Amino acid sequence: MNDKELRVVQSHFRTFYQRRMPSVPALSQRELGFGWRKKVDFRHKAFASQRDFERFVLQDVPLYMSASTAYYRFPDKQPMLQKEFSGADLVFDLDTARSLDHDHKPLLCMGCLDDVHQQALRILDFLTDDFGLQGLLVFSGQKGFHIHVRSEAVWDLSKEARRQMAEYVAAEGLEAEAFFQKSADYSDSSERNVGVLQGPSAQSGGWAGKVYSVMKNAIEKSDAASLKAFGVSKKHRDDIAARPAELLAQLRQGRWSAFCLKPDVEALISAVKVVQTDKAVTFDLHRLLRIPESLHGGTGFVAKTLPKPDSFKLEDVIVFDVREKMTVIPRVPIQLGFLGEKYDLPKARFAEVPLPLGIYLVCQEKAFVP
Ligand SMILES: [Zn+2]
Repeated sequence: MNDKELRVVQSHFRTFYQRRMPSVPALSQRELGFGWRKKVDFRHKAFASQRDFERFVLQDVPLYMSASTAYYRFPDKQPMLQKEFSGADLVFDLDTARSLDHDHKPLLCMGCLDDVHQQALRILDFLTDDFGLQGLLVFSGQKGFHIHVRSEAVWDLSKEARRQMAEYVAAEGLEAEAFFQKSADYSDSSERNVGVLQGPSAQSGGWAGKVYSVMKNAIEKSDAASLKAFGVSKKHRDDIAARPAELLAQLRQGRWSAFCLKPDVEALISAVKVVQTDKAVTFDLHRLLRIPESLHGGTGFVAKTLPKPDSFKLEDVIVFDVREKMTVIPRVPIQLGFLGEKYDLPKARFAEVPLPLGIYLVCQEKAFVP
């Protein structure tokens, strides 16, 4: 982005901040970082009041704003030790999918965003089910999501405890085979189905409880593809379709041999575990994270806190008026879908596009401002 483009983007960002200024809880105890060229050009900044912060934002209009997850007595002091750390929110950072089982688009891929959104929802479930915590789900502004837990209960968690939580949701070091016990005479060959395979039941907690729920859902829905993936044979899938209530009753007792002789434990775990977290963000107590409700300088989208976590749409994070037009000159040929419209813009030709798309392309450095 050259100076002219930076000024154009900043003028739109300023207009947005004049209407909607983010507010950071416990602002005076946070270290802030700001970026124009990079995500963080400088950090160790602190503000005594929201008014000081607002004045700074409207005057300097940073393209990126982040705040420490930690609370400090002296947030602007250096080195870090001088800040006098007094606690930190618990956070999770989820980035774009690595497995691409969708029609991937090189620019603005909703498939990737939907994947990572699903992963984020899994973390929220872990937080409520396993840790009794409430998390806020926040779009990162570009390709991922952040989860913030601001409850006082987490402030004192050690780095090690946070690391263990991040590993727990990722099923790291989980010995799930131990959830299953075979009777001495057990055989998993379908010809000689004898003995008993005892597994997670309605009474199980923690990860065993998750494995139970995954199988329960698959049986309730008679979801043939999932059942197959979890190791349920054709004969048993037919059986489930014929008498689901009976087999659910067996599952509640943990009698897996009634419907699944050889569970694919790996597949069952994969249906729940979170694979896209950057664990270092969770256990680094001095990390800066994008300020919720601020704009992302790489997209012009707002890092919005999702009021209903299970619903995420691009429309929700676009803040500039789609009825306004912006003229840009693509640096490369551009093909993308944006709010239901398809765009095919040749390189080096003037193109008139909706304002939020223009800002997106300039922020992505895919287009110049003429
Ligand atoms: Zn994709």
